[in-house]
Amino acid sequence: MKIHVLQTGYTKVPFGQFYGGLNGWIGNRAVWNMIFDKSHFINVPIHVYLIEHPHVGPILIDTGISMEQAREHKSYYKGIFGVTTDEDEYVLEDNMELTAQLDKLGYCPSDIQTVVLTHLHEDHVGELNRFSHARVMVPLKEWESRHDKVFGFRPIYYPPSYSSIKNWDFVSFTSGAFHSFDASQDLFGDGSLIFLPTPGHSKGHASLLVRTDEETHVFLTGDSLYTLRHLDFEHLCAFVPGPKKDFHIYLDTIKRIRELRKALPNMVIVPTHDHYDYQYKYVHRFFEDGILTEEERDQLLQYEASLFDQNGHLKPEAYPAFVSKDKQKGVGKVCSEVS
Ligand SMILES: [Zn+2]
Repeated sequence: MKIHVLQTGYTKVPFGQFYGGLNGWIGNRAVWNMIFDKSHFINVPIHVYLIEHPHVGPILIDTGISMEQAREHKSYYKGIFGVTTDEDEYVLEDNMELTAQLDKLGYCPSDIQTVVLTHLHEDHVGELNRFSHARVMVPLKEWESRHDKVFGFRPIYYPPSYSSIKNWDFVSFTSGAFHSFDASQDLFGDGSLIFLPTPGHSKGHASLLVRTDEETHVFLTGDSLYTLRHLDFEHLCAFVPGPKKDFHIYLDTIKRIRELRKALPNMVIVPTHDHYDYQYKYVHRFFEDGILTEEERDQLLQYEASLFDQNGHLKPEAYPAFVSKDKQKGVGKVCSEVS
């Protein structure tokens, strides 16, 4: 089964959003910092995946960002939070637009009859309305929390982003336990796509385990794991903006992913926003034709193994650090000797 890795632009995020969870970026302070920390931005990619399923047809996993988000940012985001975030929060070149990339693969939006959403955050549903004809699968819990509010007054999710969808398929994880996960959903009843609840980043977040051949799994983690390095939750955590119990939910999810990694040694982990060489020089290159060979899979696993010691802890040289603000762009970089 082929998987195409499509990058739909970049987003500028504060370093602490990705790496500050153990340094105070939790709860209301995380939200506060996220809005006001303007001096530690980094650019991270946004990915969408197209799976060519032999029986179901092409399946889109998440929908990335749209041109409106990138170029009419002010009006778009006034609609969500009532305030404008940085104008250059998103970068999307014409050739990175989702429809342009689908076109290159020989598809137009009407060919896509199935969309699976990991969660409803804006950078994952930007182009969703182009697929208003499709069946859209989303975790029920994520859907039910769409009216939750930030600071008690604004919904987190933006109704116009998903308003044209008519054929929702709410996933409630009824296929039983799957390795370290208490619940799962075998989306098409053939074991090829197992949807696993991975809450923490958002209330109902889920990740998709794809069996590409007899021996290989590809785990599309969405934002449950921002980067491979986040597997070492003892030393590195993303921000968690909800109440403290949400932090434990986030940690519990990563523990389960670590257990799954042990249970499936040939599983390749592919996070949406990993911004290291792993993403750009390995994942992009190896999935270019949609097919991951055994040799390529092993190279990805070797890269992952190179980041950690025998206890699963990040090696010092793999530890990310924010460096040198680029004066022209106002955006810095993450330094890690293993890039
Ligand atoms: Zn995201």
